[in-house]
Amino acid sequence: MATVTQPRPRTAASYQTKMLIDGQFRDGVEGRTFATVNPSTEEVIAQVSEGTAADIDLAVKAARKAFDSGPWSKMDARDRGRLLYKLADLIEANIDDLAALETLDNGKPLKEARHGDLPLVIDCLRYYAGWADKLTGDTIPVRGDYFCYSRREPVGVVGQIIPWNFPMLMVAWKWGPALAAGCTIVMKPAEQTPLTALRLGELAMEAGFPAGVINLVPGFGPSAGAPLVDHEGVDKIAFTGSTEVGKTIMRNAARTLKRVTLELGGKSPNIVFADADLDAAVDGAMLGLFLNQGQACCAGSRLLVQDKVYDAMVERLADAASKRKVGDPFAPDTDQGPQIDDDQFRKIMGYIEKGKEQGAQCVAGGGRVGDKGFFIQPTVFADVQDHMDIAVDEIFGPVMQVLKFTEVEEVVKRANTTDYGLAAGVWSRDIGKAHDLAARLRAGTVWINCYDVFDAAAPFGGFKSSGIGRELGHQALENYTEHKTVTVSLK
Ligand code: NAP
Ligand code: MG
Repeated sequence: MATVTQPRPRTAASYQTKMLIDGQFRDGVEGRTFATVNPSTEEVIAQVSEGTAADIDLAVKAARKAFDSGPWSKMDARDRGRLLYKLADLIEANIDDLAALETLDNGKPLKEARHGDLPLVIDCLRYYAGWADKLTGDTIPVRGDYFCYSRREPVGVVGQIIPWNFPMLMVAWKWGPALAAGCTIVMKPAEQTPLTALRLGELAMEAGFPAGVINLVPGFGPSAGAPLVDHEGVDKIAFTGSTEVGKTIMRNAARTLKRVTLELGGKSPNIVFADADLDAAVDGAMLGLFLNQGQACCAGSRLLVQDKVYDAMVERLADAASKRKVGDPFAPDTDQGPQIDDDQFRKIMGYIEKGKEQGAQCVAGGGRVGDKGFFIQPTVFADVQDHMDIAVDEIFGPVMQVLKFTEVEEVVKRANTTDYGLAAGVWSRDIGKAHDLAARLRAGTVWINCYDVFDAAAPFGGFKSSGIGRELGHQALENYTEHKTVTVSLK
C-alpha cells in the first residue's frame, strides 16, 4: 500500500479544535481534550476540546437566549435565508480545503469528498435557504363567527447528534431545515470526525449568524450526547447513527417529552432481475455497497440476484471488487480509503470471519490491506443464505452479500424480512414490475435502475427500525416546526 500523502501544509495550530458556544470558540469547562486520528495513518491529527455536561448546559443556555430573546428571534425569515445562502457561498469558496480536511479526518477518498459530499452540502443549504420565507400557515373554514388561521413556528432549541460517516453532509442535513425554520442549535459531532464541523462553525460565524444560533460541542456520546438529550432547555433531538443508540435516545428523551427524529441503520436489499441491464446493475451494485468504504446507512448490502444471471453477476462483481484501488485517500486514483477506526475495523473483520465460518463463499477480498491504517480489501461473499449473520446484521464495511432468488413473490418476501427499512434497489427493464416492487418494498427510498441518488428536495428516512421521520425535502421542515392554531371571534 502506498504511503499516505498529506494534502497541503497545515500545522496543528491551523485546525479549529475548540468548541463553539455563544459565538465564541473556547475550551471546555473541565479543560479536557481528546485526540482525533487520521484513519489512514493511525496518527493523531489534533487534540480537540472535549465537551461535557457543563459545556452542554452553557451551549443550551446560549441557544435558549438566542431563540427566546436574541436577534435571531426577531430576524425576518428572508434574512435567515440570506445567511444560509451566505454560508453556502463561503463553503463553495473553501471547497478544496474542506474536502481535504474531511479526507484527513474521515479517510474517504478526496475525489468523493470534493465531488460527492461537498456539492451535496452546498446544494442542501441553498435548498433550505429558499424555504426560510415560504413556511406559511392556512386560513381554516371553521363553524361560527370566527376567523381561524394557523402559523408555523420554530420548535425551539434543537439538539443534533451526528455520526462520522458523512461528517459535513450530516451537518448540512441538520442545520439547513433547522435554521430555515428559525430554530437554534446545539450540535454534537461524532468523536471520530470533529474537525470539519468546527470549520463549518467558523464559516457560519463569518457568514454572520448571531451568537448562540449555532453551538458546537464535540465530545463523546455518554458524556456530551446524553446530557444534551436530557437537558430541560432542549425542545427536540435529531439523531443519526446506530439503531441501538437511537433506541436509548428515544427512551431518554421521553423523560422531558422532546420531539425526536431518528435516522438509523439498514440492511438494504438491492434486487437484480435477469432482464436488467447487467452492466448498469454491476456498476450500481458496486456503488451501492462500496461507496464510502461501505460505511453508509443505506448500503445495498443484500444483493439479491435472479438465478439465471446469478453466476455471471458473481463473477463480474468479484472481478470489479478485486480491481478497486485501496489506499491513500488523497491519491487521485484511489477508490477506497480506510475504515473510520479500529473498533469498526475489528467489527468488520469479525463479520468476514463469521461469513467464512457459516459457509458463505468469499469470492473476492476477505483480508486486511497493509499493516497501518484501517484498510480492508473490498470483499464479496457468494452463496449467502438469509439466516447467516452477514445477511442479517448491518456490517457497515466493504463487504457485499450476494444471495440467489427465483421468483418475484419470493424476493419481495425475503427483501422485506428484516427489522430495517431504509432503502432498496430494483434493477429490471420491465418498468411495470419495477414500479410494482417499489410499492411493495417496505423501505423509505426505492431506487430503480440506479442507487445512492440523493437530492436535497427528495425526502430520506426509514421504515421500521431504520428510523422515525424524514430528512431532506419539505418533509424535514415538519421536524423543526410546530403548527399553531389562532381563532379570533368576529362578533
Ligand atoms: P453511534 O454510537 O450510534 O454514534 C452516533 C452518534 O451518537 C455519535 O455522535 C455518538 O457519540 C453519539 N452517541 C453515542 N451514544 C450516545 C448516547 N448514549 N447518547 C447520546 N449520543 C450518543 O454510532 P457509532 O458508534 O459511530 O457506529 C456504530 C454503528 O452504528 C456502525 O457500525 C453502524 O452500524 C451504525 N452507524 C449508522 C450510521 C447511519 O448513518 N445510520 C452512521 C454511523 C454509524 P460518539 O462520537 O462518542 O460515538
Ligand atoms: Mg479522525
